[in-house]
Amino acid sequence: MKNLLDYTRQELSCWLEDNGIRPFRAGQISKWICIRQAESFEEMTDLSKELRKKLEAHFYIRRLVVEEKRVSVDTTEKFLFRLNDGLHIESVLIPGKDHFTLCVSSQVGCAQDCRFCLTARGGFIRNLTVGEILAQIRDIRSYLMQKAIDPLKLSNIVFMGMGEPLANYQNLIKSLETITDMDYGFKFSPRHVTVSTSGLVPKITQLGLDTGVNLAVSLNATTDELRSELMPINRKYPLKQLLEACRTFTMKPRNKITFEYILMKGVNDSKEDSLRLVKLLSPIKAKINLIPFNEYEESGFKRPSQKDISDFLQILLDRNFTAIIRKSKGDDILAACGQLKAKLPL
Ligand code: SAH
Repeated sequence: MKNLLDYTRQELSCWLEDNGIRPFRAGQISKWICIRQAESFEEMTDLSKELRKKLEAHFYIRRLVVEEKRVSVDTTEKFLFRLNDGLHIESVLIPGKDHFTLCVSSQVGCAQDCRFCLTARGGFIRNLTVGEILAQIRDIRSYLMQKAIDPLKLSNIVFMGMGEPLANYQNLIKSLETITDMDYGFKFSPRHVTVSTSGLVPKITQLGLDTGVNLAVSLNATTDELRSELMPINRKYPLKQLLEACRTFTMKPRNKITFEYILMKGVNDSKEDSLRLVKLLSPIKAKINLIPFNEYEESGFKRPSQKDISDFLQILLDRNFTAIIRKSKGDDILAACGQLKAKLPL
């Protein structure tokens, strides 16, 4: 038995064709799953009984198990999902003014080993399947429906949960196909989907060629020395290569790459750091998200003072950069950036 959500529409068409069924049925089936939230093949009443039986014999439709849900004082909600094999991941539903953003996971654990990130501590366990990536979206939309909220209000996806999305590239790309399928899939505009990476250079370039989604890069340091210490991936792909891949990234003319920069007291928050950041990013169409470090037990890093944070920001703004301080949501429930751990053996 196969998970129906693992199949892209193209793959399902092929399967249907191989089984003597007209391939356009894939669109109908996809709609039932992605839009109409079907729980079973029985409900798919515009398919013949015979076809439904056939599908039932080969595929299953299943939801993730919500093992725990925590709500922050700022109304951000963190879902602890249990996967079929008993492992766990977390997804974070972030309310905006008139829409929701879902922060999804791409792996159980993470192999990047960034020094400041809580997810890194449990090490890497495994990649998520396409179906597991997509189930986070499907299940949260169903949850919104139960609360009488239009599921399409969930209009933005960020791959900023657990894991390194570009290290699970094939499944990422397949899931993006269904996420951005406007006719039969989840109907997210690619402009509203962001993939964040610690800096897997060859895959960055590939992402630009393969998709039209937004790119975010977790930069966090302005010298190779510091970045290699904080983010081991930098030893393989140092700043020069990373920034060159960003400069040449294929995107729409008015788009910008988001650079995430965690501000850590006494580590990367000096005036020199901000000036080096300006220099590094000036050849690139960039916007900068400053993320004051989200503290957790034994993190070993501290968030700078409010004044140091605003001074850092001001230098970027004075040089005409688009820059903001990203208000971390849900930090009281460990749902903020770098705080997801989902029962990993830390
Ligand atoms: N692996 C991908 C996706 C995870 S995104 C990536 O690295 O981009 C998670 C973001 O949270 C990254 O930008 C990371 O730099 C940031 N982050 C990690 N730990 C943090 C912490 N303790 N406080 C604030 N931001 C953190």
